[in-house]
Amino acid sequence: MSLSSSFPLILVTNDDGIQSPGLHALAEGLRPLGDVVVVAPDRERSAVGHALTLHAPLRAEHLRDGWVAVDGTPTDCVNLGIHGLLERRPDLVVSGINRGGNMGDDITYSGTVAAAMEATLMGVPAFAISLVEGPFPLEAFFPSVRVAARVAEMILEHGIPGDTFLNVNVPRDCGNEVVFTRQGKRCYNEVVVENVDPRGRKYYWIGGGELGFEDEAGTDFHAVMRGHVSISPLHLDLTNYRALGQLSGWDLGDLFPGD
Ligand code: MN
Repeated sequence: MSLSSSFPLILVTNDDGIQSPGLHALAEGLRPLGDVVVVAPDRERSAVGHALTLHAPLRAEHLRDGWVAVDGTPTDCVNLGIHGLLERRPDLVVSGINRGGNMGDDITYSGTVAAAMEATLMGVPAFAISLVEGPFPLEAFFPSVRVAARVAEMILEHGIPGDTFLNVNVPRDCGNEVVFTRQGKRCYNEVVVENVDPRGRKYYWIGGGELGFEDEAGTDFHAVMRGHVSISPLHLDLTNYRALGQLSGWDLGDLFPGD
């Protein structure tokens, strides 16, 4: 890939696959800000989380200038993009625009968010962006593209706090207001459907239940439900610092008596 070095280099990926209209709209919308290279999964890989392919080779197919399809996860795409496919280190990684919100506890499943995590691990500023509600024709992504372009501009101009990436969620009918939020909480009442396949074997299918969120002020869900763009700064340190203090009172006794 031949790229001029005068422009920032922006790596774009997603988890809905390289055919997704949200990815195409995003790549197009970021083009005025830099050299955009798309490295994305060759098929839908939603809900793969932060999976990295270690026990199989990965193939990268150059579809056209600046567009590469990888038969791996979003995390593979970022890893391979930064370490193998790009001529220089990107200045920014943008993941999305996902079909459907990535808020609250859901972000632990999200391939979209994991791609931004991976970039953060490699020391590259990143954000994930999701359109909360469908239907998802190409035009539905245009407001999110504007948001993405502004957030990208801000990061390229001002940088981002260390070890931090942004999780952006855009409601379907979004107004002008942008709210900085914390990660909300899901109400889990998910249903597992049990059924029998045509050969008489039992199968299970996760999902199908109506899922809700706790409608707490200050959260991603709360903002989006009110038509605001939500931006949550996230980091990879999963330590629960409050619990750390509480656990210091634990006495596990003499684990290896006689040593
Ligand atoms: Mn997805």
